[in-house]
This record gives sequence, structure tokens and C-alpha cells, in this order.
Amino acid sequence: MNGLGHTVMGASFGAFASVMTTGAIDLQMIAISTISASFADFDTGSKVRNKLSGNPLRTKIALIATGLASTVYHFLHSYSLTSFSVLASMTIVIVGLFMNHRQAKKTFIHVIASVIGFTGLYYHQYWVTGLAIFIALAPHAAHRTWTHSIWALIAMYFIFDGAQEAGVKGALIGGMAGYVSHIVADMFTVNGVKLFYPLIDKNFGFKIMHSNQLWLQWGIIGATIVAFLGILFITGKLDAILNHPVIRV
Ligand SMILES: [Zn+2]
Repeated sequence: MNGLGHTVMGASFGAFASVMTTGAIDLQMIAISTISASFADFDTGSKVRNKLSGNPLRTKIALIATGLASTVYHFLHSYSLTSFSVLASMTIVIVGLFMNHRQAKKTFIHVIASVIGFTGLYYHQYWVTGLAIFIALAPHAAHRTWTHSIWALIAMYFIFDGAQEAGVKGALIGGMAGYVSHIVADMFTVNGVKLFYPLIDKNFGFKIMHSNQLWLQWGIIGATIVAFLGILFITGKLDAILNHPVIRV
């Protein structure tokens, strides 16, 4: 399934989960679900990741800019002039200047992940660190392996649960709905997904859609939305929404 397909699926799963659990359209939960639906494709060879890291030269410039911005920040806060962080910032600039594009791309992801990871540790927000570890490791995974597995789903449970505990409303249900939507959507493709990788190296799924069959992709998404509306209708939730359109933000 392509990026747009995953986005629409993520939003649909989020909206369905929101109405089922809260009885209302929770926009924040839907937003979290939509973002979470793209996480699994941070692995190697995925379109999402290639789009994010994009042009290698741009990545190299971003790496140098990150180092420079960090250095300027520490200069402005002169108390930390002698700190280890200045050295780290300058190292990023120098490394960015000399490394080749391919290396810069990989390093950039690791620099971002490290910054996020240590920030999480510093503020005792371990779910942030968990997310950073995912961002750092996912680009090393072969496409549709552990990032599309039950194990990733379990790891995500702890990350989103931590976010929810930290006060991010709708994080747990929204985050899980989005991640599940991605795996389910990819199960419709002919390759399926390695649900239990590396324990069982086998592709699971319904395997009906080729990547060039866009009509089938949108058909599956449409059928999913109709199924969700049907469940909401049967359970009486649709009526409640239509009569009392409570929008929770
Ligand atoms: Zn995928």
C-alpha cells in the first residue's frame, strides 16, 4: 500500500476507534493514529523513509545546520560554553562536512534519534527514548520485517502507553489504531508481512493486491470504511454521533 493509502487507513482506524471508545470524534486521537500509521515504513527501502530523508545533499546540509544551530544555541547560553555539548555540536558540523552523502543520510537519522533519546532520559520520559530507539533501529531493518511484526506492536504499546501517562490524550488508543492499520493494510498486498519475524520467517496476509493495482487499494480502503460505518450503525454509535456531533479536540 502506498503512503497516501496508509494515511487514509490510519485516519479511518483512528476515527473508528475514537467513536467506539469515547462516543465522539476525537480529533487528537485521529491525528495520532494518522501519524502512527506511517511509523512501520521507516524501514529500509520504504517510500516513506526515502521521502523523509530525500535528497542526500539536503540531508548533509541539514546535518551541518543542526550542528551549527546547536553550537549557536550553546554560545548564546554562555554558561554551557565549556560543556560537552558544544564539542558534540562542532563534531556534527565537521562530520557533516567530510562524510559522503550516503553516510550523512544515515548519520542524520542517528543524530536526530540520539537527541530525542537523551532528551527522554533527561526528563524521565522513557517512552520518548523508546520512540528514539525505534527511529534509530528501523532504518536498519529489511522492508516489512520486524517493523511490521507483533513485536513492534508490543513495543509500540509501551511507547504509546507512556505518552498517554505523560498526558498526551488519545495516545494509546490512537497510536495503536494507526500502527495496527498499517500492518493490516500491508497484509492485503501480495507480499504480506512477516508478522513473527525473526522467530518465524514467513509472510502472512490475504495477499490479493499488487502494488500497481491502485483501484484495488482504494477499493479495500473503501470497503474498510463501509465496514466501520456498518459496525457503528449496528452498535448505535453512528446515531449518537449524527444526533450529537460532539467534536472533542
Ligand atoms: Zn509497510
